[in-house]
Amino acid sequence: MRVVIAGGGISGVYFAYKLLQELPDAEVLLIEPKDYHEFTMGIPMAFAGLVEFKDLKMPLSSLRRIRHIKDQVVAVEPGGFRISSGELINGDYKVLAIGSLRVGHDDFYTVEGAENTYRLAASADVVRFIVDEAYPVMGFQEVAIAVKSVWKEKKVYVHVLYIHDDYRWLFNTYKDTFDKYGVALTEDPPPIKTEGRELHLFVPELAQHPLARGLRVTPLFETQHPRTYLIGESSLMKLGLPPIGWGAIWQASALAHAIATEAKTGVAEYAVEEWSAVSDPDKFRQFFTYRMTRGVPLVSLKGLYDLWRNSIFASL
Ligand SMILES: Cc1cc2nc3c(=O)[nH]c(=O)nc-3n(C[C@H](O)[C@H](O)[C@H](O)COP(=O)(O)OP(=O)(O)OC[C@H]3O[C@@H](n4cnc5c(N)ncnc54)[C@H](O)[C@@H]3O)c2cc1C
Repeated sequence: MRVVIAGGGISGVYFAYKLLQELPDAEVLLIEPKDYHEFTMGIPMAFAGLVEFKDLKMPLSSLRRIRHIKDQVVAVEPGGFRISSGELINGDYKVLAIGSLRVGHDDFYTVEGAENTYRLAASADVVRFIVDEAYPVMGFQEVAIAVKSVWKEKKVYVHVLYIHDDYRWLFNTYKDTFDKYGVALTEDPPPIKTEGRELHLFVPELAQHPLARGLRVTPLFETQHPRTYLIGESSLMKLGLPPIGWGAIWQASALAHAIATEAKTGVAEYAVEEWSAVSDPDKFRQFFTYRMTRGVPLVSLKGLYDLWRNSIFASL
């Protein structure tokens, strides 16, 4: 059986890992334009000095069980993924795990951008994250906590000026964690009078990946194209769920199990009641983001990086 994955980020890598655990003989192809996988959830850990920024990039040349095609998907067609070289890549199952589009100037969501932000934060007295987008890129909350944990003397603010109502509740669930770490959450704009050397970071907007725009997604992540699935940030947005890493991991795991069971027994097993049957969507979203908002911040979770690098990525 051949499975084609587009996108070697969090959801693509975790999907491959779970699939190969259940179907060790599956042929897996990964289309990814970069030479490396970026473990973006580890960025707060790098801020805290638990890992080096460069170690968050894991070379795809080390993959043994997956064939890496260094290219990008330019169109999703019923017959497979069209890549920029013009070739159509097909498989029994096709999984798009292409993340989302980030629109804005300030960058803390790529390893390179985050390392640059770290340098800027190091020389500032006050760091302000300014949220003025309907759907801001998530993860800056963890960076804010990380900055405050590393440099206790710095003042760190999160200014939520504008945000879609769907997301406002997410910030409310952060209140306790921000309080605990000393990050100030406010709806006021930054004051005109500065409090020393200030770094203002405008949190970019998160938008659907262009390839995902024309796709429909069922609750089982299947698109209108046969045996073609969309998981990760763009899929979560289409399903009305917060585009976060734990969600991407949950989708990857659920889909890998469904595909593996279908390949083995002809019937896809899927724990659908976990969410599509939940009558109260707000309650489900709270449950869904519990790990991100109420758990231990990623800044203190070096074990997660070790697990990702040494068990998950290394097994591929
Ligand atoms: C600093 C920071 C802290 C975070 N903290 C948390 C947290 O505490 N909890 C949490 O749950 N989440 C957190 N997140 C969010 C989490 O990292 C993302 O939600 C997650 O990485 C999304 O996974 P993904 O697979 O959808 O996309 P990505 O990980 O972005 O991967 C997408 C991949 O697709 C590739 N790609 C793009 N276009 C194409 C194409 N056309 N063809 C082929 N490949 C393509 C890209 O190169 C990339 O490798 C954080 C993020 C950041 C930046």
